[in-house]
Amino acid sequence: MNQIEDLDAFLETRGTRKSGWLQVSTRSDGSPFGIPVNAVIGKEDGPTLVIEACIHGDETEGTLAALTILDELNPDELKGTVISIPVLNIRAYETGTRGNPDERYNYDMNRLFPGNPNGSISERFVYVYFNQIVKRADNIIALHGGGGLFYLKNRVMISNDPKSTELAKAMGPEWPLLHQSHHPGTLLVECEKEGIAGVIAELGGSSNRLPGPLRENVECFKRMIKNIMRHSGMISGSATYAKEWGVLKGVLKGTNVKCQYGGIIVPTDKCRIDAEVKEGDYIVSIVDLFGNELLKVLAPQDGIVLGVPASPVAYPGNNILTIVKIAKKIT
Ligand SMILES: [Zn+2]
Repeated sequence: MNQIEDLDAFLETRGTRKSGWLQVSTRSDGSPFGIPVNAVIGKEDGPTLVIEACIHGDETEGTLAALTILDELNPDELKGTVISIPVLNIRAYETGTRGNPDERYNYDMNRLFPGNPNGSISERFVYVYFNQIVKRADNIIALHGGGGLFYLKNRVMISNDPKSTELAKAMGPEWPLLHQSHHPGTLLVECEKEGIAGVIAELGGSSNRLPGPLRENVECFKRMIKNIMRHSGMISGSATYAKEWGVLKGVLKGTNVKCQYGGIIVPTDKCRIDAEVKEGDYIVSIVDLFGNELLKVLAPQDGIVLGVPASPVAYPGNNILTIVKIAKKIT
């Protein structure tokens, strides 16, 4: 595949499709190391939409969506440009891990924005991605999921920027739960500073990737992307919307339940997506390898279970459940 010499020239010709590697650095064998960029450049002017997937290497549902949607877009009928990055964190993708296992300093790439051209390898990837690709976007959709940790039901992360909320509302009726995220160093926080509308879509996890459920989650991501494209006039047709949106209470840290002990997770019947729980309800227990119970994990608040463990193996300090509470409804 081509190396992209000049991204402006790469994206210049209207009514075309383009693919190539945007070089960031070199691997330890000296070969080019970069970001795979696919673009569908519409015949007519319009907004630029960036689709990002797999900044966390174990969240690959988005990779399939970001790739397969390209065949469903016709440059002759598209207004504006779609730039799709099916895998941002290449080494993490290769090893199926959240972060790059070779990275000595900065494991989570989505805590490193806006990047550093002289930093560690993950900081360099973020710097090139943010400055060369994200800053071109009118709208950006980052596709995430629970990876090896959780299986997650649809949820949208938004920033404090009203543009982010508006973009979230354009995702369609399958995405009615909004959650504000303020983690320093994340894509959303830096997009807010730049005035770029951004959302993170969370769906899926490694525990349910049989072909049927995987395909359904990929199609769900693609329906959402196309709804945003209809909403912003990039493709023809009418967008659809939820009747109302639930804004989830508190910051993310308040909804993920950390495990204090390592061991095997034994679920109760409350440990399932969409279970309604009360504060203090017994959700899972953690047992040692002799069957002795180390801990009962209780719901920290009333709410709905949106994330369940992707694996029965608990590691101390890891999040094992997501329990959310709707603070208010907006229309
Ligand atoms: Zn993620």
